[in-house]
Amino acid sequence: MQQNHNDINSNDNERVANLKKELLDQDFRDAVGTISKEGNRNYIYPQRPFGKLYNLRSYFSYFYLILFFTLPFIKIEGEPIFLFNVLEGKFIFFGQIFWPQDFFIFAIGLLTFLVFVILFTVAFGRLFCGWACPQTIFMEMVFRKIEYWIDGDANQQKKLKAMPWNAEKIRKRITKMVVFFLVSFLIANFFLGYIIGIDRVGLMVQEGVFIHFGVFSSLMIFTFIFFFVYYWFREQVCLIVCPYGRLQGVLLDRNSILVAYDYVRGEPRGKLSDPTENKGDCIHCSACVRVCPTGIDIRNGTQLECVNCTACIDACDEIMDHIDKPKGLILYASENNIAQKQKTTYTWRLKLYTGVLVLLLSFLAVLLITRDDVSARVLRTPGQMYQKLPENKISNLYNIKLTNKTRRLIHLDLKLENIEGEIKLINPVDVPKESYYQTSFFVILKKGVIRKRKTELKIGLYNKGSRVETTTAIFIAPSL
Ligand code: SF4
Ligand code: SF4
Repeated sequence: MQQNHNDINSNDNERVANLKKELLDQDFRDAVGTISKEGNRNYIYPQRPFGKLYNLRSYFSYFYLILFFTLPFIKIEGEPIFLFNVLEGKFIFFGQIFWPQDFFIFAIGLLTFLVFVILFTVAFGRLFCGWACPQTIFMEMVFRKIEYWIDGDANQQKKLKAMPWNAEKIRKRITKMVVFFLVSFLIANFFLGYIIGIDRVGLMVQEGVFIHFGVFSSLMIFTFIFFFVYYWFREQVCLIVCPYGRLQGVLLDRNSILVAYDYVRGEPRGKLSDPTENKGDCIHCSACVRVCPTGIDIRNGTQLECVNCTACIDACDEIMDHIDKPKGLILYASENNIAQKQKTTYTWRLKLYTGVLVLLLSFLAVLLITRDDVSARVLRTPGQMYQKLPENKISNLYNIKLTNKTRRLIHLDLKLENIEGEIKLINPVDVPKESYYQTSFFVILKKGVIRKRKTELKIGLYNKGSRVETTTAIFIAPSL
């Protein structure tokens, strides 16, 4: 009896000890690696990464940078191929102009994009962050490279920080600030180019700061934001600001492919000099930690801070090469790949998201194909009821508001579609390209065709004989 009691106690103690150990092991999840317990910033000095994946990412980044700096100059019929003019409510995607009237298409487009992001994240984790996110591209492939060039690698950067303010430190700090500011200014110009068009940016720069003070102010605000982000704020954007990182917790599952540490192969870790037998392959060299731009240890498992930049894969592969072990101790893999040695499968969750995405894409395609070139809204002119005309005729006055979404002037003829009558235009309906246009017209009906006090009219808008839009209006007649 006493023996049993002792066994139970020792089992409990062991369980508690294990639990405590587990809790202690999870301590890193209570804090962001770049913020100290006192709430101060832990500035990260990642070592310059190199390796196969880093080279590949560099090539991708050159491609994105070329795209970013050349797309604003690519035009279709005189308009940029992409424009996000939130100020004037004009958006161009792949040369197609969208107006606030296309809000529904825009909303469905956004929803489709969101489902695509979810599907992609469930399958591949934060692959986008490491390989295509503009923040990572500019930070790691532009500004970080400039920093290595001016300040040197991580150790030299730390030395420079600790150094008193001597000539070398002042020269390097000023050089870095000036270069970072100029690059930020360049990016801000192109960023603004995507909003108002690069030609307008060029024209405004030529005409001078004082004539276009508003635009110049926006340019400087963007420049300072970029400078602040890349000079100081850096990985905090991914850790604190970006909502996408926060989504990982709900989107990832055991089948999502991520940058992961193969703990089955790596543990128990131990130094090369450690004589313990049955050690795992991890030699506890911390090379993977030293290159991490968000300051984490991937061996602690998937973490919110990991932007899947692959720097730790390259660093660990290099170590494995040195100690004659197979590469891939840190690799792209899912939890099930590592723990269960299962192959990647197309799960029911992925199938479901794919189904929703296909439906949304089809719907979006239909909306885009059937999108009207012209949109019209007809309203009775306020304060006007009806006018009695000779020959037993009644007229109503209407205002028509039109949007021409095309790149050509459109001349329109108006016809009554559901009732016999006449439309008398006050001005010809010539809607300039990519513009809003407003005019008025009379609808004149004979009393004989009017059956009730309020009649719904269907009005067809015709361009060169073919109908481009149908709209409705209410015709008011005296009581019958
Ligand atoms: S680089 Fe590889 S071997 Fe070195 S600590 Fe990281 S996982 Fe272990
Ligand atoms: S853990 Fe690896 S992949 Fe993740 S951010 Fe750090 S270096 Fe990049």
